[in-house]
Amino acid sequence: MNGRILISGASIAGLTLAYWLARHGFHPTVIERAPRPRVGGNGIDVQNLAIDVVERMGIMPRVRAAAADVQGMKFVDARDRAIARITLPTGGVEVMRGDLVAMLHEITDAEYVFGDSIRDLSQHADGVSVSFDRGHTRRFDLVVGADGLHSAVRRLAFGPESHFIQHKDHYFAFADAGTALGEDRWVTMYNLPGKMAGIYRSGNHPQAKAYFIFRSGPLTFEHRDVEQHKRLISQAFASEPTWRIKELLAAALADPGFYFDALSQVRMPSWSSGRVALVGDAAYCASPASGAGAELALIGAYRLAGELAAASGDHRIAFSRYEDAHRPLVRQKQQIGPNVRLMVPKTVGGIRVRDAAARLPLMRAMAAAERLMRAKGSMRLPDYALA
Ligand SMILES: Cc1cc2nc3c(=O)[nH]c(=O)nc-3n(C[C@H](O)[C@H](O)[C@H](O)COP(=O)(O)OP(=O)(O)OC[C@H]3O[C@@H](n4cnc5c(N)ncnc54)[C@H](O)[C@@H]3O)c2cc1C
Repeated sequence: MNGRILISGASIAGLTLAYWLARHGFHPTVIERAPRPRVGGNGIDVQNLAIDVVERMGIMPRVRAAAADVQGMKFVDARDRAIARITLPTGGVEVMRGDLVAMLHEITDAEYVFGDSIRDLSQHADGVSVSFDRGHTRRFDLVVGADGLHSAVRRLAFGPESHFIQHKDHYFAFADAGTALGEDRWVTMYNLPGKMAGIYRSGNHPQAKAYFIFRSGPLTFEHRDVEQHKRLISQAFASEPTWRIKELLAAALADPGFYFDALSQVRMPSWSSGRVALVGDAAYCASPASGAGAELALIGAYRLAGELAAASGDHRIAFSRYEDAHRPLVRQKQQIGPNVRLMVPKTVGGIRVRDAAARLPLMRAMAAAERLMRAKGSMRLPDYALA
């Protein structure tokens, strides 16, 4: 029942869902707008129950071998002198996003369609007709949107994104930076009031990553217009000649994989509508400030595939069980606490207070405690019988 399932988005949620659907005997088709899996981004955390998901997929040893092994955050002054360091224990493994996406793609047996996107959906009693940007139409039993914060499936089946996205007053960008920048296995951060420029260095990659955050009320921009994104980051940082901002900006603006977005969360009253469901950031983005995007995507995708198998493909039963099981974790991870305010204080005074506090053992203990609070506690990943 409901064997042919179209998944929009070949990233962490979409690939994990396709992997588990195939293991349960369904026939997933994955459509991705990019010409190949997108491997940009900095480190992401595979933690808590997500470790169990990745272990059950057989790639946890490879994920551990590729670990970014980042020790913590280092705050620096304009002369690049370390003012304070906070080491961050993690209950899991921090790995470069692109490494995880590449591994998931490699092990997932599905029909792939790259360089295309869903244009329209129309639901019927026994299936969904889907038309594509390239012009053709196909019929599937179910459609799942795993297409991220600006999900096309969500827009088509649930309504405009303004109904579901909450803006958190910050914008961020990730990009490649000069290889010689930054300290190995540390995230180096430099602050100006309401702005942060940083360098992320994984222990496993020679390529340093630049990242930028700035505070702002809502800005109008087209989320696919990379040249416009680059202009917005330039406007925010080009007038700041201090520290290494000039070098970082030049490298980021030259990177074709430059990634920019608003720091936002997605909150929806329901993650399914008839034969269409959502998974990962499309349904419940917690924002990069939560450190939990990959965790929610991996666990959510595992659960959605498992519930479909357990209900013998009956989407009415499966979609509602998936949502009941996953919502408590989403609610918990969307409480992002003071992370962003600590990383990007609003004023010079706020930066000084943060730096002074970061030198105190108490602050370091609090930062460590916040990470450890994300631990999985007594939760267990459900077992779903394989076909
Ligand atoms: C390039 C990139 C870099 C990122 N870097 C970081 C990072 O450094 N730190 C961090 O915390 N999070 C980052 N994220 C977000 C992070 O991957 C997610 O928060 C989390 O892992 C959940 O993944 P997801 O699969 O739900 O969504 P995403 O990882 O956002 O994946 C969505 C996928 O859907 C595709 N897509 C979008 N629209 C369409 C469409 N209309 N049709 C078909 N496909 C579509 C996208 O190209 C993408 O492959 C990044 C995301 C991307 C896409």
